[in-house]
Amino acid sequence: MTSILWLRRDLRRSDHPALLAARDAAAGDLVVAYVLDPTLWSGAGAARRAWLAATLEATSAEYNEGLTLLWGDPREVVPALAERVGATSVHVTRETTPFGRRRDEQVASSLAAQGIEWVETGTPYAVGPGLVVNGSGTAYKVFTPFAKAWRGHGWPDPAPRPRELPIRHVGDDEAATRAVREALAAPDLPDLPAAGENAAHARWREFCETGLTAYATDRDLPGTDGTSRLSPYLKLGVVHPRTLLADLAGRRGVGAQTFVDEIAWREFYADVLWHNPSSAWKDLRDPLSGMAYDEPHDAIEAWQTGTTGYPIVDAGMRQLLAQGWMHNRVRMITASFLTKDLHVWWPVGARHFLEHLIDGDIASNNHGWQWVAGTGTDASPYFRVFNPVTQGEKFDVDGDYVRQWVPELAHLSGKAAHQPWEHPDGYAHGYPRRIVDHAEERREALRRLDELKD
Ligand code: FAD
Repeated sequence: MTSILWLRRDLRRSDHPALLAARDAAAGDLVVAYVLDPTLWSGAGAARRAWLAATLEATSAEYNEGLTLLWGDPREVVPALAERVGATSVHVTRETTPFGRRRDEQVASSLAAQGIEWVETGTPYAVGPGLVVNGSGTAYKVFTPFAKAWRGHGWPDPAPRPRELPIRHVGDDEAATRAVREALAAPDLPDLPAAGENAAHARWREFCETGLTAYATDRDLPGTDGTSRLSPYLKLGVVHPRTLLADLAGRRGVGAQTFVDEIAWREFYADVLWHNPSSAWKDLRDPLSGMAYDEPHDAIEAWQTGTTGYPIVDAGMRQLLAQGWMHNRVRMITASFLTKDLHVWWPVGARHFLEHLIDGDIASNNHGWQWVAGTGTDASPYFRVFNPVTQGEKFDVDGDYVRQWVPELAHLSGKAAHQPWEHPDGYAHGYPRRIVDHAEERREALRRLDELKD
């Protein structure tokens, strides 16, 4: 009997319950496959593609070069593969996004028609979305009570890593191997982290030794290497959050507890999306429906390219293009700038982030955007508009982050980098002038809100 493990957001071998289920079901061979879907592939930016490609190569190495790489619409490719290899079951880690759930339902029903079993084991989360509910059995709408109940619910220990696996490689699709090759050789790729499980665990160990103690404070400082940088690995399931939580179980310090809270945010947003699939691209809450938005083409382009004239905004947007990653504090500042200073509806920014972020994740990204815009859960009230200058001065106190990403301001020392307009030589090296006046746009954002209330 042959079973298939179809990998998606679980590109690892350790702590992998679906892999164990597939192995146990395989009395003969185990086919481990990944399907590159041209629709998703064409929507991803070069950094995202390269990150996935590098992770696929590293995953194949984990499976002794046994990963079968396929190309096409999984709704056709997976049933065809099952037929070809004579599989009796197809195993997956349960998908929880609206797109993934719809796709999996279709694959499962095609397989059922072929008499092949569809088995879902585990999810990419410590607690599966939908499982944490309040006393009346409904979903939590705000983070703090969710996080408390989530901790109370608990999660299983990590699953053991299998040593021997009866893997059968059944031949890669030429289109898939070509896509991987081309993605890795694309010109002007950002500096990506090392791919694969070993690299993820090494980064985690390093962070536990050097970053965890000060994490509660340093995590807000974009000029410091104060966060784990694990999000790209978590995104593709190279490491499971359960593994991280197990390592933190004995640690009492505020750093470890804050880190658990951040993992809880990831789980919370996945839960919100599970209960509200339409919130992927629509306002979760209604109070701002009818809000007037703009589509200022040139200003959006300035935002995307990091040329708005606001140093911390530009630094963040340039970091995104250069690394496929951006610091959390700066994600909030840049998202606020687009939605509140440029009055642009949040999905425009969410799309741009998803194209470039190597950790781009529909639940965390789009609900992070909604949080800033004031349309989501725990919404920061719409009238709270981040001031890009004071935010910069508070969190990038010495201006190091700005100078790192905006070389036109490298000659301004300390805090001066946050206000080039205050210095005679502030624009001496070609830094662009401000495209809007923040104080004016703040008033305009509040005026629109009042209009809505009326
Ligand atoms: P750490 O501080 O080390 O946190 C550890 C882990 O906790 C992260 O890897 C992540 O999985 C989780 N986490 C931390 N903060 C958050 C948060 N606010 N929401 C959800 N999970 C969190 N995160 C993504 O993983 N993918 C995204 O596409 C994404 N888009 C965002 C867009 C906006 C507008 C905002 C405000 C936030 C977004 N985040 C996103 C959340 C957060 O910015 C990143 O998770 C974090 O910057 C990743 O870096 P890190 O791994 O060093 O984080």
